[in-house]
Amino acid sequence: MRVNDERGKGEDMQALKVAMLGCGVVGTEVAARIQNRGEALAERIGAPLELSAIVVRDTAKERPGIDASLLTTDAEAAIAGADIVIELMGGIEPAKSLITAALDQGSSVVTANKALLAANYVELMSAADRAGVRLEHEAAVAGAIPIIRPVGDSLAGDRIERIMGIVNGTTNYILDQMDSEGWAFDEALSTAQELGYAEADPTADVGGHDAAAKAAILSSLAFHAPVTIDDVHVEGIEDITPDMVATAKDQGFVIKLLAVCERVNDSAAGSGLSARVYPALLPRTHPLATVRGAFNAVFIEAEAAGSLMFYGQGAGGSPTASAVLGDVVSVARRKVLGGRGQYERPFHEDSRILPISAITTRYHITLDVVDRPGVLAAVSEIFADEGASIELMRQTVGEADEQGNQHAKLVLATHSNTDAVLRGTVDRLGDLPVVRAVKSVIRVEGQ
Ligand code: NAP
Repeated sequence: MRVNDERGKGEDMQALKVAMLGCGVVGTEVAARIQNRGEALAERIGAPLELSAIVVRDTAKERPGIDASLLTTDAEAAIAGADIVIELMGGIEPAKSLITAALDQGSSVVTANKALLAANYVELMSAADRAGVRLEHEAAVAGAIPIIRPVGDSLAGDRIERIMGIVNGTTNYILDQMDSEGWAFDEALSTAQELGYAEADPTADVGGHDAAAKAAILSSLAFHAPVTIDDVHVEGIEDITPDMVATAKDQGFVIKLLAVCERVNDSAAGSGLSARVYPALLPRTHPLATVRGAFNAVFIEAEAAGSLMFYGQGAGGSPTASAVLGDVVSVARRKVLGGRGQYERPFHEDSRILPISAITTRYHITLDVVDRPGVLAAVSEIFADEGASIELMRQTVGEADEQGNQHAKLVLATHSNTDAVLRGTVDRLGDLPVVRAVKSVIRVEGQ
């Protein structure tokens, strides 16, 4: 192919061999774009891309738009001699071994595999560093949204203090339907499954594990420290009830599953990093509160840049393929120029991960109490005893039970307390004879 660029005007540039591992939801879109947009990509790169092999499990499967002659089950042969390997098969093995082999032989690798990176980020980045090649992964966090390059490159001269993101579209869709339509969790989940937003087994999404993988990757990159998924405190949204959503709404909040990655300087356990995923109350005026449906958004606070927000589609074949191809063009350009570009020394900062018990946030606690004099005093006494402080108490009259006891709903908004203090307080509240049930305990972010 003839490519017009400053270096190679009128010369035939040698094609870059691209091997793809996986041709599913994302891979199909990537392969189609490499095949159909070859000329435009070649102009941007300075050399054409030649899709040399596509590795799948089943070569006989119908794959409309895909050149069947490229399909193979022989992954080792497919990656041998490739300039660029695109890994879109997912899972840990054989993806990890194949990526490592590709890096070791001098291929740059582009992957969307958050599960793999969240557990092996340091190992794989170090393998790329040793081999003098790139391992790019824009699509592994928040799909189409450019977030890895802004965090890793655009903000490299700044100091990122905090990242707070809605990085899982399935859970955002579920919580949004519960908030806007008053649906129960199960109803919202089954609709998400019908619409293709949720997997048949939704555990990774609703349990917060998918968001935790992204929190680990974002933390490693933003804080230049090795953070794995095991370092991330995870709580899912399975226990969010319509009552919790309605109470939040009443008070000007919306419940979102948030990934929070931050530098902490004033914790009970000293300074360090915190990475956590949990459902939290956000003021409805916060920019992240406006993120509807299956969309994602990431809110960054940096020392010099201030607040930045990135918003867009966090999943889906076509949006994710956009991020994958951006990485492919980036690594291909470097190949054409004859180098991988400068790598920062990875993970050179303090990596002390603070336990959730030392992290300070505000909470809303909802109690079902017996409606009689002395309840507020008993509750306040426990808070005082535990060294926790209440900002606001709101009581609404509820129903009478079978024994004729009148109930009330008591919502307590706390000042900032550590998780440890809060847990101790809630345990003791639950033991009070006047407390029928602790209905919910939920953190507040973005205030
Ligand atoms: P997918 O639809 O399940 O496709 C997986 C592909 O890999 C299939 O073509 C499958 O072959 C092939 N494959 C799987 N295991 C294999 C093995 N052991 N040997 C050979 N081929 C194998 O997955 P996807 O949704 O495209 O996701 C791919 C990656 O992108 C994952 O890491 C995922 O986390 C990430 N990602 C996906 C999205 C999204 O919206 N889907 C968004 C962001 C990131 P067959 O076709 O023969 O079964």
